[in-house]
Amino acid sequence: MKAKMDKEEVTTTQVDSRWFIDADWFQQNKRSLSGLIQNYLCPRCRKRLGQNASVPIPKLMATIKNCCANTPEFVAPRLPILENIFRLFLANGNQPLGIAELSQQLRERLGDTYRTSPEIISRLLRRDQYYGLRPVTDQPVFPETATKSN
Ligand SMILES: [Zn+2]
Repeated sequence: MKAKMDKEEVTTTQVDSRWFIDADWFQQNKRSLSGLIQNYLCPRCRKRLGQNASVPIPKLMATIKNCCANTPEFVAPRLPILENIFRLFLANGNQPLGIAELSQQLRERLGDTYRTSPEIISRLLRRDQYYGLRPVTDQPVFPETATKSN
């Protein structure tokens, strides 16, 4: 009985934080978010946007959300779970999602109840060193607007 309660407590705190693709993480780690997400363009969009390295990230994200992610195979059982999580964020325009929401959406799209448990998702997100998936913090998204008010 006591062990069960402890477990529930842990799960509750994990479910609290919402996650997203953190562009700042890529800057801090000297990695290119733009280069990474260009890989997710469908052949048609890649042709349309060209080999243009200066396509702004919001435009890339919008293109993927509105076009390239709209195929059933964009999130697929053959892919690793963390890869599928990253794709979910690309498909929704990087709207922050909690662990429970991620678990539910993966379950719906993959029909997999083992690899998509909140415990596994939480562990994968915490270990991520590649996709820049970070919890949303209380810091304002645009710090420069916050420091103006003095
Ligand atoms: Zn496309």
